[in-house]
Amino acid sequence: MNIKNYINGEFLSPINENYIDNYNPSIGEVYGTIPNSTKEDVALAYKAASDAFPEWSNKTLEDRSRILIRISELLEANLERFANAEAKDNGKPVSLASVVDIPRSASNFRFFANAITQFSSESHESIGLGAVNFTLRQPIGVVGCISPWNLPLYLFTWKIAPAIAAGNCVVAKPSEVTPMTAYLLGEICNEAGLPKGVLNIVHGLGQTTGQAIIEHPEVKAISFTGGTATGAHIARTAAPMFKKLSLELGGKNPNVIFADSDYDKMLTTTVRSSFANQGQICLCGSRIFVEESIYEQFKKDFVKKVSELKIGNPFDNDTNVGALVSKQHLEKVKSYIDIAENEGGRILYGGNRVVVEGSENGYYLQPTIIEVGDNKCVLNQEEIFGPVVTLMSFKTDKEALLLANDVKYGLSATLWTNNLNRTMQFSKQLNTGIVWVNTWMLRDLRTPFGGQKASGVGREGGFEALRFFTEPKNICIKYE
Ligand code: NAD
Repeated sequence: MNIKNYINGEFLSPINENYIDNYNPSIGEVYGTIPNSTKEDVALAYKAASDAFPEWSNKTLEDRSRILIRISELLEANLERFANAEAKDNGKPVSLASVVDIPRSASNFRFFANAITQFSSESHESIGLGAVNFTLRQPIGVVGCISPWNLPLYLFTWKIAPAIAAGNCVVAKPSEVTPMTAYLLGEICNEAGLPKGVLNIVHGLGQTTGQAIIEHPEVKAISFTGGTATGAHIARTAAPMFKKLSLELGGKNPNVIFADSDYDKMLTTTVRSSFANQGQICLCGSRIFVEESIYEQFKKDFVKKVSELKIGNPFDNDTNVGALVSKQHLEKVKSYIDIAENEGGRILYGGNRVVVEGSENGYYLQPTIIEVGDNKCVLNQEEIFGPVVTLMSFKTDKEALLLANDVKYGLSATLWTNNLNRTMQFSKQLNTGIVWVNTWMLRDLRTPFGGQKASGVGREGGFEALRFFTEPKNICIKYE
């Protein structure tokens, strides 16, 4: 499978004819190539987007909406093909890709197809001054969308759909680690009748292709999801150029469990919030804090349930935990497990690579549970982004809240309790962009999505995304 760039509705080789390998992580083998695009390819994509902008931004909302709905329908019609491609490219179980990644990618298009028809702006009458103000919300122009490898098509489309719904044209780059479904999306866009140049997908490395997008003087907004260090670099580059920036970055989310919660529901969900997608979801609850009175019981039950998870090839129907995304990432995650003891941690379960029969070179790792004694340890402060969680007990609400907030990140938090006052106190005082109470990853696409502190700047989702992808302009009309 040799991937090409999607520019002006056509599939093009990179100008320099340079390619990089694309791996199938479940068997640890190269199965294709992707363009190693340069700034010349990005310039070509920009030109196509810029040429398409006048017509696209003047299309009626109904026309734009109809095309986005069509993309969504075509994704649904091709669900199996896309889910298989995602599993092969990323290592995630195909069972997960077919119920989460691909349906959600289709929903992203459908949601913003509908949202744009309901989006409105404000007017302010200046009473006594004989004037009325109204705000125009105009598309920005050509915008850049850059996404990571953990939920490849899901996060790619979460940016592209609102950007084009709002009338912008896009130069987008998926992760070089998982480019396949973004490539396939180009075909769907053509079939759905998306005009040429509205969406352009350029493949390649972050430091070259990504860098060319963020540095391009005419790309006026950057929507980025990825690591915190990359986000800081993008901000350093793009902020002095006065680009609009949306940064969705790393997380180290607390999962705070009180004895008064619904135990069975909490336990089942905690297994999922720890290890879904091999723990490679920015929203996974990787720091688990449990009230002392149920700590020993929880530890025993959690280890038992996690030991029942089946690690295997993503294409086996009964696989719960697939392969990690790359060899490099596997080594990074393993390096944290290797320092557990020095950090005062005790491995309660897992910690080792797994050899899967028939897929011996795949990047498999046991789901790993580490008991720690101090929230200041590296395992609790740095984002590992793999199938590794830590456990700690706490005695009081105050202590739990301090532990939960004592980290540089602030993406999401999960709280398990049936106490209403505690729910409200924690909801108000947790320094995160999202708080889930007695659930995890329940998503309503209208809600603001994003993080505080080192987890990012700005919010995606619903009208927040449409506001980001439009420029407000106030018009003040004086009348006699
Ligand atoms: P990454 O930062 O390495 O890469 C993300 C994207 O940025 C890739 O497409 C990459 O090629 C590109 N990139 C890298 N350097 C660049 C540069 N100089 N200029 C422009 N683009 C550049 O992140 P990753 O390893 O792909 O993804 C994992 C990270 O993403 C984790 O930290 C995770 O928490 C985070 N994440 C956050 C959210 C969220 O919503 N907050 C969601 C998913 C993942």
